Amino acid sequence: MKTHFSEIDPSDATQLRLPDPGIEGPLNENGDECPWPWDPIQLKGAPLGQYHCPYCGAMVIAGQDHIDYREDDASGGV
Ligand SMILES: [Zn+2]
Repeated sequence: MKTHFSEIDPSDATQLRLPDPGIEGPLNENGDECPWPWDPIQLKGAPLGQYHCPYCGAMVIAGQDHIDYREDDASGGV
């Protein structure tokens, strides 16, 4: 059973790289798994808002879990 990336603390993920057999990561708009989806959640409190994930290029929101484009859910799961 895979651990969802949002359950892993960014400080525990510094050595990780996706895809990983034990971790379920988010997909970007192209359907590629993000190599390191902990960038946006690390930016809690930063006055950034939306930006492109430096790892996979997906549009994400600073301070929130990396958006998963796997589902056709326009709400983004927020
Ligand atoms: Zn990403």
